[in-house]
Amino acid sequence: MAEEKTEKGALLVISGFSGVGKGTVIRKLMSAHPDYAFSVSATTRPPRPGEVHGKDYFFVDRDTFEQWVKEDRFLEYARFFEKAYGTLKDHVEDLRNQGKTVILDIEVEGARNVMKACPDAVSVYIIPPSAAELRRRIEGRGTETPEQIRARMEKALAEADIVPEYRHLVVNDSAEEAADEIHGLLHSRKKTRVPRRRALEMTRQIQSDLRKFLQEDENCDKIN
Ligand code: 5GP
Repeated sequence: MAEEKTEKGALLVISGFSGVGKGTVIRKLMSAHPDYAFSVSATTRPPRPGEVHGKDYFFVDRDTFEQWVKEDRFLEYARFFEKAYGTLKDHVEDLRNQGKTVILDIEVEGARNVMKACPDAVSVYIIPPSAAELRRRIEGRGTETPEQIRARMEKALAEADIVPEYRHLVVNDSAEEAADEIHGLLHSRKKTRVPRRRALEMTRQIQSDLRKFLQEDENCDKIN
């Protein structure tokens, strides 16, 4: 009897403003649908409380990461916040060959490289409902110093220029709805709740508000 061949799974690239709640959206998507799998990246940053090696990331030291770069084991990798992050080729291929839709939770530079290397990849950028909400979420996480929060807001600001390169823009007002929306985009060719044009306007507004926040913080620092 001929062996039944599993259809290769899709590649789903998900990026979003730092602190937007991407992780929650991805967890909702995966718990609602068993046919998604998370691509576990390698990183040189230390684990946050509760993060598990092999589940959230492969936490490796610098030498190991550099060795893997030399061995061409990454589909893409990027360096920022003085740390390195990379997507492992074999890991992604294994999951896709099992028919899983593989979710890459990666930032914009890496996403750009994946979109170039794999034009079939479906790319989604998640935006917050507003800059104030984004700031609230970053500060609320409570795991970062004021300098790290500032660095994240600066990165969010810089990333906003690349948002139009993504195929779909999804607003994360509710993680559940955002997850349903992403599933609908992939499987039922549904449209996003917020039309692309409006989402791009929102992105520009967020960029301008983030600039104001950073400026205000700088002025405060000068006074204190
Ligand atoms: P965090 O340190 O908060 O877990 O992640 C910081 C950023 O790194 C997030 O925007 C996340 O999407 C991105 N990231 C995680 N893994 C990878 C990866 O393998 N490659 C790239 N380019 N970015 C990644």
